[in-house]
Amino acid sequence: MGFERGFLDYERIEPAHRPVAERVHDFNEYIATLSAEEARLQAGRCMDCGTPFCMHKCPLHNAMPDFNQFVSDGEYEKAIRVLESSNNFPEITGRICPALCEEACTLGLHRVQVGIKSVERRIAEYAFEHGFIKPSPCKERSFRKVAIVGSGPAALSCAQQLTRLGHQVTVFEKNDLAGGLLRYGIPDFKLSKEVLDRRLTQLELEGVIFRTSVLVGDKDKLEQGVHCQATCSVSAQELLDSFDAVVLAPGSEAPRDLKLPGRELAGIYFALDFLIAQNREINGSERNPIDVKGKQVVIIGGGETASDCIGVALRKGAAKVTQLDYHHELPLSVPLAQIWPEWRPIKRTSTSQEEGCIRLFSTNTTAFLGSDGKVEKVKTVQVKWGEGRNFEALAGTEAELEAQVVLIAMGYSHPSRALIEAFSLQTDERGNIKAPLTGSQAYHTSQPKVFAAGDGRKGQSLVVHAIAEGRGCSKAVHEFLSSLPAR
Ligand SMILES: Cc1cc2nc3c(=O)[nH]c(=O)nc-3n(C[C@H](O)[C@H](O)[C@H](O)COP(=O)(O)OP(=O)(O)OC[C@H]3O[C@@H](n4cnc5c(N)ncnc54)[C@H](O)[C@@H]3O)c2cc1C
Ligand code: SF4
Repeated sequence: MGFERGFLDYERIEPAHRPVAERVHDFNEYIATLSAEEARLQAGRCMDCGTPFCMHKCPLHNAMPDFNQFVSDGEYEKAIRVLESSNNFPEITGRICPALCEEACTLGLHRVQVGIKSVERRIAEYAFEHGFIKPSPCKERSFRKVAIVGSGPAALSCAQQLTRLGHQVTVFEKNDLAGGLLRYGIPDFKLSKEVLDRRLTQLELEGVIFRTSVLVGDKDKLEQGVHCQATCSVSAQELLDSFDAVVLAPGSEAPRDLKLPGRELAGIYFALDFLIAQNREINGSERNPIDVKGKQVVIIGGGETASDCIGVALRKGAAKVTQLDYHHELPLSVPLAQIWPEWRPIKRTSTSQEEGCIRLFSTNTTAFLGSDGKVEKVKTVQVKWGEGRNFEALAGTEAELEAQVVLIAMGYSHPSRALIEAFSLQTDERGNIKAPLTGSQAYHTSQPKVFAAGDGRKGQSLVVHAIAEGRGCSKAVHEFLSSLPAR
């Protein structure tokens, strides 16, 4: 337990945010790392309650009571050893995880939860600064070769674990730089790419080989909206012939479209067209061709991707940003005793939404209107939700919103079929790569020596789940490699 009277004497400390008026003018991160004293007091609020639901709800099962104790004692080297035993990239989850753990914090039942995520970030940053995070290359090599397709958090955690076990890992990424959605998707103001590069350098020094701009499979078969900067490709058969095991971590890239009248009009884009182009502009590549300056932007969708579009559009000078969500508006609070330790179904406001956006709930899009081939308006109707996923349009509530740019941020259905077909894989009912999560065949696909992890297996999810799956998959691959006859 941190301090004897920790939570009685100290309130939750939120990390400092740069003011909205300042941060909307740049793409730099705006949430600070806690200071030593802030982290000490925050970690000291942990009650070490005996049944840590926070650990259970974190997909990585990070040991919060242990690292909180070390931070409140100022023992950062011990804290990072505890944290990195379950999480390969705490500096990333400490920035962009929704903190499923905090929802389950026992203190939340009667006070405000411990700020676990901000303590996690503080530990990781302190550890990097003081040289506690170093490359740990394996001294004994196994001479087994593993190919990993994709370089998002699932691929990277899997690659790091397998390399540290002595296997020779090669990561194939179709985009020009590694990182998956951490690189191209999540805006720089949420996750600076220097933070990602610092970690990639460590992986390289540990022995992971990165082959970027290489597509596995056939470019012509990629769906519309799947981004590819590859300059060459390798076939599935080449990987199967050259490697002892293949891990597929391709993410969930096929975007959900809104095939409504007027969808063909210019000015309507998938969210990632906009977000990736902005990441590329910031890393010094070409300018974002989707110009929102002085324009009315309508964003369709209610999730994290939509929120990121809001933040980017505001920074690019949009005159007005409106977000359409067909779900109904949730209450601001719910009776905790009925929900805890689960995620509360309440109305949340993201940091991008608080920067200035109009949020319309129970609003369904019915058509896009325009002239001269360009979008000018979005037609909407109010909906009333019934049982399950059924809703009905309310007569007389039709409306039209001005829009010169529309961003479709309705999520992703499944990984690209191109890769699935290249390996002749079975899929689940939603089109994800079929591979169980548990049991003796965990992470094994329907093809021998081919494994799958991350959003491409689970469906679109969170970074913390991807890291957890990458780690789980590495164990399955290691067991498989260990069962092969000695050479
Ligand atoms: C805009 C946006 C914002 C998000 N924000 C958050 C957030 O704040 N917090 C959070 O927890 N989660 C967030 N998420 C979700 C999170 O990013 C994903 O759940 C996570 O990145 C999935 O990791 P992954 O490794 O499975 O796949 P990805 O990160 O999608 O990486 C897959 C990689 O595989 C590559 N690839 C695919 N097919 C091939 C092929 N055939 N050959 C070579 N390479 C290939 C792709 O190019 C890509 O780089 C966000 C998602 C989006 C879209
Ligand atoms: S990874 Fe996410 S859920 Fe797990 S401890 Fe960190 S913030 Fe909490």
